[in-house]
Amino acid sequence: MPNVMTALRLSALAVLGATALAAQAGPATHFATTVEMPAPVEAGAPSPDSLLHLVLARFATGTPEAFDSIYPDPLGRVVVQGAAQRKQLRTPGLGRVLWSNASRAVLLITGTVHEGHATGIETGSDETNRVRRLSGLYEARRSGSAWMLVRQIPFDTLNYIRAHVLHVDIEPGRLSRIVDTLTIDAGSPYGFATRINNATELQLVRLDGKRVKYAFGGGVLWIDTRGRKPGPSRLVLAYTIPAEHEAKATTGDSANVRPSTSPDTLPAYGAMNNTDAWHPFFNYDSGNDFSQLTVTVRIPAQYRLTTSVPQTETVRNGIRTIHGTSIHPQFLLALLYDRDWTPVTQKVNGGEFTLETFFAPGFHFSPDTIANTAAFVYRVLVPRFGEPQAPSRYLAVVEDRQLGHSGWQVRMNNAVISGDSALMLDEPALGPSFAFAHEVSHGWTMNSSGLAANFLQEGWATFCESLVLGAKYGADMERAFWERMRTSYVTGLDRAGFLGGFEGKQSILDNPDNGRIHYSKGSWILHELDYVLGDSTFDRGMRAFISTNGQGPHGYPEFIADMSNAAGRDLTSFVMPWLSGKYIPDVEARVEGSSLVVTQAQPDVLFDLPLDVAIVAGADTTRKTVHLATRADTVPLDNAGAVTRVLVDPDHHFLLRRHWGELERFTFHSPNAKAVELAGNFTAKPIAATRTGDDWTVEVPMPEGRYLYLWRVDGKSPSDLEAIAAVKAPSSDSTARAGVRIVRPLVHLDDRDAR
Ligand SMILES: [Zn+2]
Repeated sequence: MPNVMTALRLSALAVLGATALAAQAGPATHFATTVEMPAPVEAGAPSPDSLLHLVLARFATGTPEAFDSIYPDPLGRVVVQGAAQRKQLRTPGLGRVLWSNASRAVLLITGTVHEGHATGIETGSDETNRVRRLSGLYEARRSGSAWMLVRQIPFDTLNYIRAHVLHVDIEPGRLSRIVDTLTIDAGSPYGFATRINNATELQLVRLDGKRVKYAFGGGVLWIDTRGRKPGPSRLVLAYTIPAEHEAKATTGDSANVRPSTSPDTLPAYGAMNNTDAWHPFFNYDSGNDFSQLTVTVRIPAQYRLTTSVPQTETVRNGIRTIHGTSIHPQFLLALLYDRDWTPVTQKVNGGEFTLETFFAPGFHFSPDTIANTAAFVYRVLVPRFGEPQAPSRYLAVVEDRQLGHSGWQVRMNNAVISGDSALMLDEPALGPSFAFAHEVSHGWTMNSSGLAANFLQEGWATFCESLVLGAKYGADMERAFWERMRTSYVTGLDRAGFLGGFEGKQSILDNPDNGRIHYSKGSWILHELDYVLGDSTFDRGMRAFISTNGQGPHGYPEFIADMSNAAGRDLTSFVMPWLSGKYIPDVEARVEGSSLVVTQAQPDVLFDLPLDVAIVAGADTTRKTVHLATRADTVPLDNAGAVTRVLVDPDHHFLLRRHWGELERFTFHSPNAKAVELAGNFTAKPIAATRTGDDWTVEVPMPEGRYLYLWRVDGKSPSDLEAIAAVKAPSSDSTARAGVRIVRPLVHLDDRDAR
């Protein structure tokens, strides 16, 4: 996916696997820091020019506090904080006054954060990505005699990239020579700035056939288009980029690389990913750089290559020439190549789309299995939401060996990409999950943009995962999937371990780099809308949204408008609290006199919730509907005196705090163990079991739901495969090392949600 923070999707087992469960909470280095509102800067400089120098100097050598005192942007501050924490070298990049008058100025400020000395691996793409929230345009204002930065100006303001025509010559393991002819619309009075790989060596820059002033540094190429009349221009860039992501030729020494089949010095495979900044772009969530992409790649004929878009190829004089075209506006191209691939092309679902597989020998799945599964995903999704990216009708499925030993990881344009160790397409026991369906599903909304781009991309793909699981395994599996997504939100369970959950810490909109929350809370928002609106209305809204994908800014305002239009009413009050709030609804219901009182008590936003409430009176249960749009609502009850329990949202249509549960008892039989602990997706730390004879027990209050548990014996968790086997074949004796526990809403818990 476009966003670097979510580029590497976790495998099924990593999300909820035995290993992850057993892991102690470790530092989650890729986990975005929550960003607070910008604090005012305290200090300035006597002129815009001296302000530039001050900012660049503090960027390079100042403490984060010193930098923050003159620099207001919260996301840029995080860049410097992170670099200082990791003791990474910072060097100044570009500093220019692009425009000024007596009281206001626009500055271009860029910098580079270099990799630490630890790895010794330095890539231009990492440098560009690291500073992409800092290198940019800034507004400065004069206050008295001091000039101060007041805000970052969105990088893509009034500028557009409409098309790329790319010619790429790849020398595997060395470099790529690139000529990019862009059609741009440079409407900004401050010039045309784009991001590009920081290791780029520019050979030529021409605007409408003429030389043009430009500057390059800190991952930004700035072209002086100031003063030009508006309208399309042709920008030609010729440049080289050193190879990144190549495997060593004669491998076997590295754990991440399968030995290549050729003995010479060329690498067996390599990639120019869509996160490598190898052609110009604005930002991963910009809506202004969806462009028509045409690429012609030349590579030694022994390699096969995918352009991640529909393609044709020819071989002549030892050179393979591959021609790819996006057909409709797409985001960023990826080029992946491998000497050992045997591409197979087939028509799927009676010609509905063309599938091309790029697998090396030994890949676990055959092209036919992949075709059958992709066909199934399309048969589930197309009748509801129409075709993805309709005109292209092309899906590539790629084994990317430089990703190492991993499964289905990422989607780049029309390509679903796996590491070399995809052993499962879905995982119905532990998760459940359907990683392959998730990646295929990205095709419907992948050109979303703006602050909630991750919600529209990852939330959507995760939502679709539930539909495909439901179609394959039934409604119970779908429900189990939503239980998993709920637990994932509450606990933040990740491959890095137990992150402590998202509740009260992040909202979807507060930081564009928020990563994991979109999979859990984001997918739940779509699940809730599907329930509230019903399939036919929800699908009509999604079709409208999908049909304009890639045609300019395409974010949550467009999504809400399309859904509202389909519903015939404004859904802003329903959707927005889920996007802007840091809390999910904390709803409770109780009997007072002859009334039912329903309240929502979460701290920040107020939700608009059409809720079902189950009123239990002895053996009788009746249902009431309560539309809760205020802090508290009251509904008359007939037999209030007999009520024993009131359960809000008993069918779990919404992502709510849960107040009811059970005191659960877990027993494990092991005469020989010295220490036994219970782990699971409901507890941050394994819970020590108490020994009685040969049995070990744990008692723990748990909120209603579906949970996975594992027994750690003498410090060891069962392997993923052991856990799957145990869950698939639940035994009545108490020697199974893993299992699924369904908790019912029988008692009101003081300790409400799992912590
Ligand atoms: Zn994804």
